[in-house]
Order: sequence, then structure tokens, then C-alpha cells
Amino acid sequence: MDLLPLDQALREAARQLTAAGVGPARAEAEVLVAHLTGRSRGEVVADAVLGRPAPQGLAALVARRALREPLQHLTGTAPFRDIELLVGPGVFVPRPETEQVAEVAVRSARQVLAEHGRVVVVDLCAGSAAIALAVEAEVPGAVVHAVELDAEAVAWARRNLDRRGSDVRLVRADARTALRDLDGTVDVVVSNPPYIPGDAVPRDPEVRDHDPQVALYGLGPDGLTVPRGVIGAAARLLRPGGVLVMEHAEVQASAVRRAVEASGVFVDVRTLPDLTGRDRMVVARVGRRHVKDSPP
Ligand code: GLN
Repeated sequence: MDLLPLDQALREAARQLTAAGVGPARAEAEVLVAHLTGRSRGEVVADAVLGRPAPQGLAALVARRALREPLQHLTGTAPFRDIELLVGPGVFVPRPETEQVAEVAVRSARQVLAEHGRVVVVDLCAGSAAIALAVEAEVPGAVVHAVELDAEAVAWARRNLDRRGSDVRLVRADARTALRDLDGTVDVVVSNPPYIPGDAVPRDPEVRDHDPQVALYGLGPDGLTVPRGVIGAAARLLRPGGVLVMEHAEVQASAVRRAVEASGVFVDVRTLPDLTGRDRMVVARVGRRHVKDSPP
């Protein structure tokens, strides 16, 4: 069984995970121990130094991780900005780069709230509701809607909302036709839609074999059919001056800018980088059609 000293068990786990192609192997082994013991990762490191024993069950989890089950499926959680999401089979695991997308939405929402005393934010293709919940947590007072089409993802989003006692309004709907009653009134539309082209199958087994296909592939030859639907929905939902923030793949920056411009309602169409400097999101504002430079 696992009754090795923890340090030795961690070294063995790291060796197995490295051999299986898992990048930060020692760190992931520590996370698995933290999950099994309920201790923080810092405490796990200290426990190893102090010669404490390894917990029961570590070998089984390491074996599953070596088969490239996502770490977040094994722990059941994924961190995202200030919050923790429940995740597992049937829902897309939130990514660090999407934290930047959420950041831009949070900043836009805070500005609207400061100026108008209220703000309405819509997260389209919400998955686990990661962005919606992060905005709610970071912009107290924001009215947040989350739209998701896939039934399994909606169930995960519902768990996350319930666990946090959230007021996010979750609807199961197609982004293209969702929330018609809000047309022309929304301040911020934020989205991490599926956008991978069908022939660009991801290399990492964690993504390829475990994230829902519906959350990965954006359909159409360029993967932008779903993102175009999101752009159309944003053009419909946003008020004049409202802001769209949408994630995309690095190679899609100019095609996405063109799609946003082609809708005819957006101005200030810009591409922003992720933390590693790659072009990963589009930000645009709906033009104030009738009155020039007027207060909103
Ligand atoms: N970012 C995803 C990936 O890394 C792609 C799909 C998405 O985020 N919407 O595979």
C-alpha cells in the first residue's frame, strides 16, 4: 500500500507522472496528497520534510493521473481567480488564460457600476459558470446572467451556483437566441465559447479525451461558427456603449476582429494578449449610434 514516507512517495509519484508526460509532476503529486489529506499544499511539503507517512490512496490517484485523467477531475475542483469551481466529466475545466478574459469583464463591470450604480453582465457559453461566478464575486452588486446550452454543463453550473449561494441567473439556452427580454440593455457580454477548428484536435489527452467536445470545437472550417453566433448575440444584447469580451485562439485574432467589425455595431475593436503575450481575446464596444460624445 502507500505506507511509505511521504517524501519517498512524492518522489515516486513525480517519477511516474514525468514518465507519463505530465509537466509539473512533483507539484501535481503534492496537490493529490493535499486532496487526500485535506491539508494545504504548503502543509504537504512540510509533512514530507518532517518524515510523515504518505496517505492511503495516493498510488491509485497517481495511476489515474498517469493515464492523463485531468488533475481537476481527480480533485473534483479547479481554481479560477478568487473562487473554486466544482468540475468533472461533462464540463470544461476552466483555464488560467480565461482568468484574463474574466479580468477585463470585471474591470468593465466595475466601471459601469461606479458610473451608473448598476451593471448587467451576461456570460455566454458559461460552462461551469466560472466567469459568471468570478464576476459576481468581484463586482458586488452586479446582476449576472449565465447562458449554457449543454445539459451536463448546466448541471455543473447549477452545483457551483448552489454551493456558493449565488444569485447568478442561469438559463439553459442557445446563446444566439437567449435572453431576448434583455436585448439592448446589457452592459457587458463576456464569453469563452468553443472555437477550436474541427481539424485542430488538441494534443493533450486531458483536453482531447476529457473536455466535452461541445466546449472545444467552434464548428465551421475556421472554428468560428459558434464565436460568430456569440458576436451576433452580443450585438443584440448590448446597449449602446456596452462591451463585448470574448476569448479566441491565437491564430484567430484578425478573423475574429473582422467578424466583430462585420456585425456593423461595434467600435474600438481591439485584440488583447493573455499573460504569456499571445493574442487571445477580442474587446469591442457598441457604438453610441445617435448621440455623439454624450454621457451614457
Ligand atoms: N482554450 C481551450 C483549450 O485550451 C479551447 C476551447 C475554449 O477555451 N473555449 O483547449
